[in-house]
Amino acid sequence: MSSTSNHPIPSGLYGGRLTIDLDAISDNWAYLRGKLNGATECAAALKADAYGTGQEKAGQALFSAGCRTFFVAVPTEALALRQTLPDAVIYALDGLFPGTAEHFVEHRIRPVLGSFEEVVEWAEFCKVAGKSFEAAVHVDTGIHRLGLAPAEFSAAMNDPDLIGPFEPSLIMSHLACGSTPEHPMNDRQLKLFREITEPFPQFPKSLANSAGVLMGSDYHFDLVRPGISLYGGQAIETATNPMKPVAKVEARIMIVRDVPKGDTIGYGARHTAKRALKNAVVAAGYADGLLRRASASDEQSGGFGMIGGYKAPILGRISMDMITLDVTDVPEKLLQRGAFVEMLGPNVAATELAAYAETIDYEYLTSLGQRFERVYGPLT
Ligand SMILES: *Cc1c(COP(=O)(O)O)cnc(C)c1O
Repeated sequence: MSSTSNHPIPSGLYGGRLTIDLDAISDNWAYLRGKLNGATECAAALKADAYGTGQEKAGQALFSAGCRTFFVAVPTEALALRQTLPDAVIYALDGLFPGTAEHFVEHRIRPVLGSFEEVVEWAEFCKVAGKSFEAAVHVDTGIHRLGLAPAEFSAAMNDPDLIGPFEPSLIMSHLACGSTPEHPMNDRQLKLFREITEPFPQFPKSLANSAGVLMGSDYHFDLVRPGISLYGGQAIETATNPMKPVAKVEARIMIVRDVPKGDTIGYGARHTAKRALKNAVVAAGYADGLLRRASASDEQSGGFGMIGGYKAPILGRISMDMITLDVTDVPEKLLQRGAFVEMLGPNVAATELAAYAETIDYEYLTSLGQRFERVYGPLT
């Protein structure tokens, strides 16, 4: 919905604006790389449209900053990224979908082989082709999603019919509890990963997502795969977030109206005005990724927006296309029709909103704005 070919859509017609700061993404990448010793490569997770920030633009920015290895989820994302970055190393975390090896090879996409069957299929493809094509092997150290079970991993790695036709370009695993570093699962996964991969010192290894990078050098190995931290998110729940904010969502005021004391606001009539209120209705809703679970009611406060330094709490339910905000204490001059309210950004951290919505900032970022005007530039 960005623009029609000959007629760019005038800014004033958009209900909201999503601003993405690509320099902040690059700075965040450089910050994380600064945590590594020189031998460890800092890659980047670019899946889900670079966590909602735009795969193409974020990929170009990160490549310019020096990043050379990228992780996406599905093969279609990998194909799109190949168009953007002809020289990058691209891994597809979801691995090899059946019967598709030729497409991976054609576009130089490396599958992260996540099951014994996938390893067999890739090895057979390489054997028939008479050439070893690059792929990672994923070993499960406890998250029980993708990855060969430890015993399967050892069996595969020691089978000359499998490892021989191809040689893993990376051996990796994924942390289940990185967001809580004190969780004993982290140490357990680290030990198990070391133990199972030790017999194969010739292959590069990777364990860390963003949280793993921040947890320290024990977790770094040869390559790290941060995602959320690049996009300003909070990888570790209990620490202050060192990353720069990357995205700002603003929604336009359509109307400011009075709500008499005792009247209710929004669908379901779940939120009663405890005093006479002034209410601003803005043109963004859950269809724009402002999650409905951050709604407010008489029982529960919800999320909020910010206008010129003033906090404007959400009133009532978040609708598909609009949100009502309490602006009773906001000066009149900030409440012009058409003015923008920050709904997420430097002053409204996704992490903070996520607490109201009982989710994580990952969900906020990846849900954002197909309907907003998209602007790349500084957030101020
Ligand atoms: C998404 C993902 C990452 C990046 O995780 P963040 O928590 O966003 O840093 C790394 N590795 C794997 C396997 C992933 O699925």
